[in-house]
Amino acid sequence: MEELLEQLLEECRPYTQQGQVATYIPELAKGDRNNLGIYVQRSDGRHYQAGDYQKCFTIQSVVKPILLLLALMDNGEEYVRARVGVEATGKPFDAINVTDQTLLSEHLNPMVNMGAIAMCTLIKGKDYEERFQRLLDLTRTLAGNPDIQVDQAVYQSEKRTGNKNRALAFLLKTYGMIQDDVEEVLDCYFKACSISVNSKDLANIGFVLANRGKHPQSDERLFPSDYAHYVNAILTTCGMYDGSGDFAVKVGVPAKSGVGGGIMAVVPTRMGIGIFSPGLDSKGNSLAGIQVLERLSKRMYLSIF
Ligand code: GLU
Repeated sequence: MEELLEQLLEECRPYTQQGQVATYIPELAKGDRNNLGIYVQRSDGRHYQAGDYQKCFTIQSVVKPILLLLALMDNGEEYVRARVGVEATGKPFDAINVTDQTLLSEHLNPMVNMGAIAMCTLIKGKDYEERFQRLLDLTRTLAGNPDIQVDQAVYQSEKRTGNKNRALAFLLKTYGMIQDDVEEVLDCYFKACSISVNSKDLANIGFVLANRGKHPQSDERLFPSDYAHYVNAILTTCGMYDGSGDFAVKVGVPAKSGVGGGIMAVVPTRMGIGIFSPGLDSKGNSLAGIQVLERLSKRMYLSIF
């Protein structure tokens, strides 16, 4: 298996140069396109890795399924579903999704920015510091890595330049979808996106979703299996932005990408996969990362369809 991973990285290395690192968050422009790493955590306890799997990058949108999990754990399915819908927007991650001068909860999707900002208000805590801390704690628990921290430089960079997200949050406020102070909510969102992880962390988080909520080592139940079904279904339809249909055809597993270059893939009952390569395609997905996953899926018959 390790040989296969090495071989796939070699085959896909040329694609790293075809993607572009995100520049709209100035700190992400410093990303190195040459990085390419993969970590696979299998249900039999074995794990395999290759390339730059230890390199850290910011989680970005891959935090959205964790936010959704925490919102579900804090409030239950009905409450969350009434506030943030489940239908794909079919639009880019930062789209301003207001239809005919109105915004309804069913227009929000938890895997794009507007829905994720709304979900920050669903996390329980006495203030936004405590809410964020609970999200960070859950991320550490799912990844089995207590050392996960926020990348302060990326956080400050997002906070300084995230005006599109500010616009989205003010729209949410205008239409009564959030009640709290916009800057406090956004601060939680920007910090959430700036959590620093590596491919192994993403593979472990993906594995808990693949294992329907049970911790891979201790077998402890971290969240109800229903929530894994909920999150995995949404990852399948909207996890790869407006490239989710293409990804479903080519790879065929629930997955979430982030503009930091990470992809977390969930192969139900079988494995969690973490990939890192910061060159992005036009939709914001790791270009070489998708190539690696496509080949891995074909060779190991990973598609769920
Ligand atoms: N922090 C990024 C933003 O809000 C996350 C986007 C992403 O990874 O899709 O623009």
